Amino acid sequence: MSVPHSEICLPPRCESCGVGTVRIGKLPRIGLRPLVYVYKCDACNRITSVEPERQEEAARRRPVSARRPRR
Ligand SMILES: [Zn+2]
Repeated sequence: MSVPHSEICLPPRCESCGVGTVRIGKLPRIGLRPLVYVYKCDACNRITSVEPERQEEAARRRPVSARRPRR
């Protein structure tokens, strides 16, 4: 029913060869550990892990200069 927004984020690109990765797994949030998605590059088999919740948190902490006045 309620799918988190992070559920539909696109897989990142491989840091080594730049090819798109495929999601192979997902680690649920355990205690203080955030939710982690695990991606694998088909070309070089490099494993990449992404923490969507941390990315969202970083996006919330944008520089103050980007903020517009309300009126
Ligand atoms: Zn790769």
